[in-house]
Amino acid sequence: MINVTKTSLPDLNEYIEEIRPLWDTYWITNMGEKHDEFKRKLKAYLNIDQIELFVNGHMALEMALQSMNLSGEVITTPFTFASTTHAIVRNGLTPVFCDIYSDTYTIDADKIEALITDKTCAIVPVHVYGHICNVEKIEEIARKYGLKVIYDAAHTFGEEYKGMNVASFGDASVLSFHATKVFHSIEGGAVCFKDSKLEHVLYNLKNFGIRGPEEVESVGANAKMNEFCAAMGICNLRYIDDEINKRAEIVKLYRKRLEKVDGIICSPIQKDVKPNYAYFPILVEKDAYGMDRNDLYNMFLKNGICPRKYFYPLINEYDCYKDRYDPDATPVAKDISNKVLTLPLYASLDMDTVNRICDIIALKQDG
Ligand SMILES: *Cc1c(COP(=O)(O)O)cnc(C)c1O
Repeated sequence: MINVTKTSLPDLNEYIEEIRPLWDTYWITNMGEKHDEFKRKLKAYLNIDQIELFVNGHMALEMALQSMNLSGEVITTPFTFASTTHAIVRNGLTPVFCDIYSDTYTIDADKIEALITDKTCAIVPVHVYGHICNVEKIEEIARKYGLKVIYDAAHTFGEEYKGMNVASFGDASVLSFHATKVFHSIEGGAVCFKDSKLEHVLYNLKNFGIRGPEEVESVGANAKMNEFCAAMGICNLRYIDDEINKRAEIVKLYRKRLEKVDGIICSPIQKDVKPNYAYFPILVEKDAYGMDRNDLYNMFLKNGICPRKYFYPLINEYDCYKDRYDPDATPVAKDISNKVLTLPLYASLDMDTVNRICDIIALKQDG
């Protein structure tokens, strides 16, 4: 079975060498040497000043929101992974869903202002699939209304927009280093932030509010990154450029073969963006293609290929949210969600398999 993604692992011996010092020090978690080294190396790679590491991307997002003392409504997108909305709700905040652009599938910044009320406190946009949000317009709105902006940047590791690392946008940007992402530390995440006061607050939130052996300063939870994860992150960071280059070659072949298939729409190449090729979504237009997304998905399964319907269902269609929201209020997101299929994409995916995947899509059209 060819899955939508496959984790990249460093050479086993390289990882063993990276974790060997842990057997000397017996320091395997709680902000040890590997944690601090990983943090330093990420700052250098991402070219950012302030970053705090977390056990995973979700807790990083929850705590980024919590660190800003928000209350009321948060404008966000329904076209994302469950984590984005859950993080808002688990902070006692109310998500307000804004529709998305039909080309990049990111939050439609031209529809945000109409959703702002006197209760609105923040905007949580998502750089979905690595497509960069309309950061200029979002910034302008946030400034005009005094709103915080927290980007879910789980898909955008290493990306740049107009020469700036994407993690530098907003009041905070949240990264995920989950095993399924372009760059991973087994499990892991980070908050990149602007206000230097947040460093102390975020540290307290992830470490029980403990500042010293006899000092507990605030109410916190446990969301620390351990040394084994940090060591995996350090190893993988050595190969991230190679990882992205391999993905670029695969995407090039996908585009070359699929852009000419009637009814198959590849997402646009964004101007001024240095991409990371995290995902390769296609839209299946039933009228032009001759079968719908679900039919194509089932045909893939029969051929031993498992793409994913990312993001279907929409968040406002989930069992836990559907009573409170109407998916027809975000018609573009609903439409894309019913047409999208994310094709297999990972560094070790061989070109023969990519061609076979494209054959399955193209052959159907021939009959
Ligand atoms: C993966 C992901 C997250 C959560 O990250 P974890 O590290 O898995 O907790 C959040 N948002 C989006 C859009 C994601 O894809």
